[in-house]
Amino acid sequence: MTLTSYSIQQIAQMASGRLFGNITTVVTKLAYDSRLVFNPAGVLFFAIKSGHLNGNTFVNALYQRGVRAFVVEKEYEIPNEMNDASFIVVENSLQALQRIASTHRSVFNLPVLAITGSNGKTIVKEWLGQVLGDSLKVTRSPRSFNSQIGVPLSVWQLNDESEFGIFEAGISKPGEMDSLREILKPTLGLITNIGAAHQENFSSLDEKLREKLILFKDVDTVFYKLDDELIHHSIMKLYPQKEKLTWGIHPDSNLRLLSSEADNGQLQMTLQWQKKSFNVILPFSDKISQENALPVILLMLYKGFGFDGISRFMLQLQPVAMRMEQIEGIDGSLIINDSYNSDFTSLEVALDFLEQQGRKKGRQRTLILSDLLQTGIEPKILYPRIADLIKIRGVERLIGVGSEIAGYASCFRPNDSFYKTTEELLTAIPRLSFRNEAILIKGARSFEFERISEQLEQKQHSTCLEINLNALIYNFKTFKSRLNPQTRLLAMVKASGYGSGAFEIASALQHHKVDYLGVAFADEGMELRKAGIQTPIMVMSPEVKSFNQMLQYKLEPEIYGFRILEAFCQHVAKSGEEETGIHLKVDTGMHRLGFYPEDAEELVVYLKKRNKIRVLSVFTHLAGTDDSVYDAFTSQQIGRFSTFADIIEKGLGYRVWRHALNSAGIERFPQYQFDMVRLGIGLYGVSSLPENPLLNVVTLKTYVSQIKTVKTGETIGYSRRGSVSANGRIAVLPIGYADGLNRRLSNGVGQVLVRGKLCPIVGNICMDMCMIDVSGMDIPEGEEVVVFGDEHPLTQMAEKLDTIPYEVLTSISQRVKRVYFKE
Ligand SMILES: *Cc1c(COP(=O)(O)O)cnc(C)c1O
Repeated sequence: MTLTSYSIQQIAQMASGRLFGNITTVVTKLAYDSRLVFNPAGVLFFAIKSGHLNGNTFVNALYQRGVRAFVVEKEYEIPNEMNDASFIVVENSLQALQRIASTHRSVFNLPVLAITGSNGKTIVKEWLGQVLGDSLKVTRSPRSFNSQIGVPLSVWQLNDESEFGIFEAGISKPGEMDSLREILKPTLGLITNIGAAHQENFSSLDEKLREKLILFKDVDTVFYKLDDELIHHSIMKLYPQKEKLTWGIHPDSNLRLLSSEADNGQLQMTLQWQKKSFNVILPFSDKISQENALPVILLMLYKGFGFDGISRFMLQLQPVAMRMEQIEGIDGSLIINDSYNSDFTSLEVALDFLEQQGRKKGRQRTLILSDLLQTGIEPKILYPRIADLIKIRGVERLIGVGSEIAGYASCFRPNDSFYKTTEELLTAIPRLSFRNEAILIKGARSFEFERISEQLEQKQHSTCLEINLNALIYNFKTFKSRLNPQTRLLAMVKASGYGSGAFEIASALQHHKVDYLGVAFADEGMELRKAGIQTPIMVMSPEVKSFNQMLQYKLEPEIYGFRILEAFCQHVAKSGEEETGIHLKVDTGMHRLGFYPEDAEELVVYLKKRNKIRVLSVFTHLAGTDDSVYDAFTSQQIGRFSTFADIIEKGLGYRVWRHALNSAGIERFPQYQFDMVRLGIGLYGVSSLPENPLLNVVTLKTYVSQIKTVKTGETIGYSRRGSVSANGRIAVLPIGYADGLNRRLSNGVGQVLVRGKLCPIVGNICMDMCMIDVSGMDIPEGEEVVVFGDEHPLTQMAEKLDTIPYEVLTSISQRVKRVYFKE
């Protein structure tokens, strides 16, 4: 048995805390988030203060649910009736957690690699886990657990069987790295790169880098990219004596990249190590994958892998984003794909996710699970434990695949079913029903579970809109890094999240602690609330008939004129609500909704008599932040806005927030950020800066339905408008204007991307189909086609249509299925 386990007395000692109550408890699991406690057995809960949340408030509920061990801070009064529980009283619960992890780490004498850097930590870590996991028992941070809380929880997983530890360390302000180093005690250190992420609390890039490098104080060997001069110089200065191993194109790099070439979705790299060159093929063609692959290869060389082994493993790398891919499935089901690793921890993490998704729409939950390989736990202990886990988590149905799990069928419930091989399950699927279920698919690589998810996918090879939630969060953080620490951020998710799906976008942003969400209508806000979104929501165009709904779902109205103000005040008075918050909009030149600037005094007089109404913010919308032609006008708008806000604030006698900036405004007018900004299109990767610093989020994809050769003189499509060169070839695509492919892109105006080549649309676009010119290209039917995406930007399509990206995004029709990616 390899589960980490301590007596409560040991834990109290490790935490330097005082133990009260029961002294016989045994601790096997640490928890800090009450929502993630499913099985109370062995749980030690840390009541941690963060922001306005005080962990103490959850102790009672957790006690009711059976948790019997708590770490609490001094002011907590232990209730008499909880005398069968253990309480460890400490100065600071977070520090206690860190101390425990640090002591636990000291028990193990093994190599530990700590990875820091601004980007790529998780991918490098996961890939290392993939390539080293075949020959070593690797313990690594789950997902991107790299914070002050995440690192101790990661280290807690080290056990007697661990042979190598790989952990991420991330910081967001000075002083944090020291505690992470103390917990991790790394013997090897790797920095991926240094960039703008999490810059808000550091005075300079240099300061942030120095802070990150504290992690390496006691390591023997440092791995880094020699091409990055700032990193190189800092490391030489700080750690002249340490052994260094570098990668890069710089001729002095230990692992030197001589050349690389993208071809057919793969990347061929020629590399050099100790004067010998060798080749590696990556199963991805993008630059970022190359960046992340080099440190992985360097670590493999360091660990003694030969060139052949490296080439073999690198070709099999699995994309990390494949974790938690969500797809609409047959019978209205939702498929959650995590078919790339299968250890016990990642199963727990994936079940958390299944739980969240299942709860959202009241779906039944099904788990399709293969034999778990490489867990280091004996099957006769492992499978009963899995049986327990899924029962506690309320997974309604298990479908087990593999001879091992099938052999333990008797530990599971009668309605769970088992198949010896993936093949057997594939044959059975047509007979099974998955109506409305949330299905988590999780299997070891050798089980090839992608075949199962393919079969469960609703419509194979149809048009779909892919939304990359990692890129969305990257953009969100990029904008956040431009703001002063105290400036709040409201994310606009109106019009179904600019076409990308309001709930999924809101939920990802809520997870990253966005301060506010904005929607156009009360209905949109209500949908979000019903789906479990708790972030404050502002409704930009509230209607009088929706006021009931708004109060019921805690939606905050934009008040833009006296008529709506009067109606709202009356409604609040009638409803018996306590104090209710509103946001005042002033029209400073856009001439859309809003009070006139001259209304300020009258507004104050009116509001002073309405003591149930509290003005939370005053705001305006700017008409031309994206173009320097309008800069003078923008300043004028800001002037009118400030005057208005001053009068309101002074008149009311309390502080109200101010906000004016949209996405382009944040990029171009940081000086006008006030108390909050309202981010919209920037989230999706559209920037107003000449050098776009954002990542593309949305990709519209389709597939070739049929390929045809068109004889000389023949025409293509309605009204015979299309033609190709003599005996050219066309591909028919299952996307038309009813899907949102604007008909004005017909006849060569629009282009799509096929295998890296732009192909013009020929003839008129039909309702459900269109044709493209693929003359001279050797592609099969079923080939993927990108209508817009990373390498074929949405902005270009918008320009061709003489419109803006907003319109293109929000015109993608609802029948196009949305697929979400998330790490
Ligand atoms: C839509 C909207 C925004 C966001 O605008 P972007 O240009 O997408 O950033 C901000 N404020 C208001 C009032 C809006 O209606």
